[in-house]
Amino acid sequence: MLNSEGRPTAPAAASAVEEKTFTGNRGLQIEEPLIFETGREDVTGVDLPEPPKAPSRLGSHARKAAIGLPGLTEPEAMRHYVRLSQKNYAIDSGLYPLGSCTMKHNPRLNEKMARLPGFADIHPLQPLSTVQGAIELIAELGRWLLASTGMASVAVSPKAGAHGEACGMMAIKAALEARGDKRKTVLVPESAHGTNPATAALIGYSVVDVPAGPDGRVHPDAVKERLSGDVAAIMLTNPNTCGLFERDVTAIADAVHAAGAYFYADGANFNAIVGKVRPGDLGVDAMHINLHKTFSTPHGGGGPGAGPVVFSERLARHAPVPFVRLTADGAEFVETRRQAGKTAEPFGRITAFHGQMGMFVRALSYMLSHGADGMRQASEDAVLNANYIKAGLADLMSLPYGDGPCMHEALFDDRFLEGTGVTTLDFAKAMIDEGYHPMTMYFPLVVHGAMLIEPTESESKASIDLFVATLRDLVMRAKRGEVERFRQAPMLAPRRRLDETRAARSPKLKWEKPQPWSEAAE
Ligand SMILES: *Cc1c(COP(=O)(O)O)cnc(C)c1O
Repeated sequence: MLNSEGRPTAPAAASAVEEKTFTGNRGLQIEEPLIFETGREDVTGVDLPEPPKAPSRLGSHARKAAIGLPGLTEPEAMRHYVRLSQKNYAIDSGLYPLGSCTMKHNPRLNEKMARLPGFADIHPLQPLSTVQGAIELIAELGRWLLASTGMASVAVSPKAGAHGEACGMMAIKAALEARGDKRKTVLVPESAHGTNPATAALIGYSVVDVPAGPDGRVHPDAVKERLSGDVAAIMLTNPNTCGLFERDVTAIADAVHAAGAYFYADGANFNAIVGKVRPGDLGVDAMHINLHKTFSTPHGGGGPGAGPVVFSERLARHAPVPFVRLTADGAEFVETRRQAGKTAEPFGRITAFHGQMGMFVRALSYMLSHGADGMRQASEDAVLNANYIKAGLADLMSLPYGDGPCMHEALFDDRFLEGTGVTTLDFAKAMIDEGYHPMTMYFPLVVHGAMLIEPTESESKASIDLFVATLRDLVMRAKRGEVERFRQAPMLAPRRRLDETRAARSPKLKWEKPQPWSEAAE
């Protein structure tokens, strides 16, 4: 574009260009319709011979009209799914600072191991004699989990952190019932992950909140005040979701045990302490471990999770089936209470088969390639990186618990935005325009306008420096009064601000073919 003097002028704003393209595409970012909208029923990517005519045995259930599946040529199908995959933000495309989620790099060595046919192509109903190596791998993974947590037994079958919580709490319930104790409440600190009270409620307990002290930590007195003969357990996270180590954890464990209750630890934040402290030594009775966080197996839409649970001596008897037993004849699964014999009283079974084999392989590959010292260093680096971010932003962003270092995540509140007209939500959306997935927002609930940043150990110093510089620039813009830029954000994403409440409350789960009249109206 030339101005009246014949000099080039700056291009128009991005949003103006966006309206103008004929295709709706923005540069090489392709606007991708649903497959049902592009597919044609008379097209297929494969040539199959006409099937021989056979009499239908479906009777009145036989389909009367065409099935209406979208048909695409092979290249069209390829492009559709590749374009969709490119709309995903992933740990492989950029820094993913989502606090409490441990979005760390998934080493490719793990992928290579998980794809070995002996692990990838097995079936849970195969004869045990043909999968001895796979069972031994599960046993070896369990051994590493027990060694790093200092616990007595492990159930590997739960398929996510929340599923592991259910498993641990069911074992606690079974242990109480075995001694004829019908306790009804579970203590949960206010800063807990939402899955903790949800799990307790699902298992049939009523939840009693434990407030955090002014330092963001749970105090033994606040726990003792709420303990009684009716309390089955406390569910505590350490480090907690404010990114702080619970200093009084052993005093809390002692008080809980003295009241005849159990100590469930949410181990999703284990990444901060592997090789530094063993939860078993802190008095924990049951804890889930997110293999998809601490032990680097993919998560967040990138693959199935795995939430093995470790148990103390006090609870080991009640761990669920199946579990691996090594005998002179090889490895076997104990699948039933009867098979468990007198040594155990499993509360039952939590999932159909034995858990997520691919995740087990990836996690053990991570453990073996790091070794005990490497995993300790990973924890130290995770904590160092979080503190580096905290220090890099402390003069511009407000810290609710600024005294002393944090653990693996740095927690900010929204006081630094006071008077700017910019909210935590606006700030997070502006990060999307800068090419970053936002941090965890408005969680933990104990902090106003919370922003929880977890860089993990896998980010380089250069990557963190750029992230810190970007956030510093955004804070400065907010303080300079560029409020519109924040309210409009994201301006450069494929979609702008979505009505997330409506999407959650009345999701459209079924594609309806547009009626001819609505097509005409468009
Ligand atoms: C991630 C997380 C969970 C839940 O784990 P899922 O695998 O997502 O079910 C529970 N507690 C805490 C503290 C977490 O960070």
